Amino acid sequence: MLAINNIEVVYDRVILVLKGVSIDVGEGAITTLLGANGAGKTTTLKAISGVLRSERGEVTKGTIQLGEQRIDGLRAHDVTRLGLAQVFEGRRVFEHLTTEENLIAGGHVQKHGASVKQGIELVYSYFSRLRERRHQQSGYLSGGEQQMLAIGRALMSQPKVVLLDEPSLGLAPMLVEEIFGIVSRLVKQENLSVLLVEQNATMALAVADHGYVMENGRIVLEGPAEKLRSNSDIKEFYLGLN
Ligand code: ATP
Repeated sequence: MLAINNIEVVYDRVILVLKGVSIDVGEGAITTLLGANGAGKTTTLKAISGVLRSERGEVTKGTIQLGEQRIDGLRAHDVTRLGLAQVFEGRRVFEHLTTEENLIAGGHVQKHGASVKQGIELVYSYFSRLRERRHQQSGYLSGGEQQMLAIGRALMSQPKVVLLDEPSLGLAPMLVEEIFGIVSRLVKQENLSVLLVEQNATMALAVADHGYVMENGRIVLEGPAEKLRSNSDIKEFYLGLN
């Protein structure tokens, strides 16, 4: 569904951050990209979604395909229109708007009022807590609810592929499980494809179908999530787990 082929990314024309990265994101599946702080995970997501351009970054080699379409070099806005949405790290919701106003803002690429309404209904059908908090100013939502809202807002553009950057950050394990459970159901029932960036390898591998491990701008390991979960050497060496 989404194919990243051997990309290099350079910041400020000289700083080489991604050194030939290839990742396949399967349709109707969760693919996770793991790795330590600074490995290049967020840069990978920004290269895909096109926001890299506004941060003086550039894809200098390789290709990125969304379905049959090449998207490397396109503007973020155009990539969104083609069916890809990114949920940024740190759940950037519009704090002064209510939950529902945030969702409506996320639906701005929709042209018809009806599909915005349908989109909101779809989001509420998965995230019932958001329905309960629909008229609340989103700055007062809990961290977990804001993460749900950030994901819900991304769904409003009716994406085929969603990029999720560290949704577990700062949340209690039970909440992470709840959110990952909902994402899992969305993937299966709506045939979504998700690329999940995480530092929390244990939780990510519990929900993912396939995993990649990144180190210093390169993929050093990949395989079915089940295999990565069960291999103790891999767990210790690459993921810092016991
Ligand atoms: P984290 O989990 O901390 O976000 P990450 O794996 O996502 O880590 P990136 O944020 O992609 O890593 O950063 C990879 C490298 O690129 C780091 O060395 C970082 O300093 C560098 N980098 C990131 N953004 C820029 C930028 N705008 N200009 C220059 N260098 C950058």
